[in-house]
Amino acid sequence: MAKMNPCFLDLKENYLFKEISKQVNAYTSAHPDNKIIKMGIGDVTQPLAPVVIEAMKKAVDEMGRKETFRGYEDSGQGYGFLREAVKGYYEKRGVSLDCGEIFISDGAKSDSGNINDIFDSSCTVLVTDPAYPVYVDSNTMGGKTIKYADSTPENGFAAMPPEYPADLIYLCSPNNPTGSVYTREQLKKWVDYALKNKAVIVFDAAYEAFITDPELPRSIFEIEGSRECAIEICSLSKTAGFTGTRCGYTIVPEELMFYAPDGSCHSVRKIWARRQGSKFNGVSYPVQRAAEAVFTDEGIRQCAEIIKYYLDNAAIMIKTFRKLNISYTGGTNSPYIWFRCPDGMGSWDFFHKLLNEAEVVGTPGEGFGKNGEGWFRMTAFGSREKTVEAMERLEKMLSK
Ligand SMILES: *Cc1c(COP(=O)(O)O)cnc(C)c1O
Repeated sequence: MAKMNPCFLDLKENYLFKEISKQVNAYTSAHPDNKIIKMGIGDVTQPLAPVVIEAMKKAVDEMGRKETFRGYEDSGQGYGFLREAVKGYYEKRGVSLDCGEIFISDGAKSDSGNINDIFDSSCTVLVTDPAYPVYVDSNTMGGKTIKYADSTPENGFAAMPPEYPADLIYLCSPNNPTGSVYTREQLKKWVDYALKNKAVIVFDAAYEAFITDPELPRSIFEIEGSRECAIEICSLSKTAGFTGTRCGYTIVPEELMFYAPDGSCHSVRKIWARRQGSKFNGVSYPVQRAAEAVFTDEGIRQCAEIIKYYLDNAAIMIKTFRKLNISYTGGTNSPYIWFRCPDGMGSWDFFHKLLNEAEVVGTPGEGFGKNGEGWFRMTAFGSREKTVEAMERLEKMLSK
């Protein structure tokens, strides 16, 4: 008899996005002439940059010619040209990596979910609350014990290390959903905590390209001691609009070690390479060429222009929240704005009010964890026109 992995029974129903679409569908059938604006989606809306399209087309043509056709890629870690490009991207910020430490992936969601494969189920996992749901779900599937570090208004929704120890730590900065960004000093505290506990930090840097403040770290490897305790997971999804194209990369430093239950010491990089070699066959060649183009000077320039478009949306949103005297985090160095629901409303009450009175859809904060209760997430990924219109409607609704 094929028995199921019982850990899957411990997963919480993915109630948040189901409930949102149920409510929106009910509203749209009752109001067929609605003008709903969606400010809830964590997906980009602007097309791929011209350099990316050009590189992808060229690579597709190569695949159609006998002399330049490519089959399976040898290394399984990604083509050398792309790993060199990622290495160069980090070098610009003073972080030096070896190509062997870079693993090309089909995105940050897969790797942040899959990484728990190589850690023992006895590990205590520390996740910030609120958080991107993948960390909790994947570790629940892996049968691990999960503890929470609280992100609260008092710490600017940037959780700091707890008093108790943990073995595997998930951090996300700039944060989804709260938009908070760790400073160097704060990240150093996490690195020190991890080193003290012989723990590993999984650092999700999916939004690093939104950091415009040069004082803020874009990679955990800008922090001293991090090569002995951290893995960085990154993605081209938000950096370059690759949500539908699929490409990311994970960095596992050579120095990073962990222990087997028998006490033997192993390289995390080698074990991750072994895991990927067995369960993953790489990213398509045209996509890797497209990703390579993102890291050229012209690619960085074109992608920065698109990111600026989103950040300008966020600035418009912030102006509205300031004017309305609503407390918020994010919106600078991040595409997310996380704000307290007005008049002490609960997340879902505010969701309903916003949908029914302003025809604007956002994401109730409690869907990301208990500390999100009474808070709300809006994204800056929409068009300029719709962002402006949504803010006008919000203002009108709240000044009634
Ligand atoms: C969007 C996002 C990702 C990126 O996921 P991909 O699988 O690369 O598209 C990773 N982490 C967080 C926190 C995100 O919001």
